[in-house]
Amino acid sequence: MTGTPLGTLSLDGRRKAAPFLRNCFAISEKHILSPVCGSKTRSRIREDTILINYPLYCPKCRQERLIEVRNLQTIVITEPDAKTQSR
Ligand SMILES: [Zn+2]
Repeated sequence: MTGTPLGTLSLDGRRKAAPFLRNCFAISEKHILSPVCGSKTRSRIREDTILINYPLYCPKCRQERLIEVRNLQTIVITEPDAKTQSR
């Protein structure tokens, strides 16, 4: 059953170098602002981006916050108490 020649990978081993296609559609993108200090983070969202429980890291204040993003709106998720986790 292993007679199928699936070895075409060796022919073009450059599959990793997928072209970084930037679509030129009119989709607006913006950086997520840090909910702590208000500065730009490195994460970007589009207007159709939906994030749920996304750990947003701010390189400026070096803090991480769980956020949700919908319709370009950032909602900070405040965990009630991280210590009360049942094992
Ligand atoms: Zn920050």
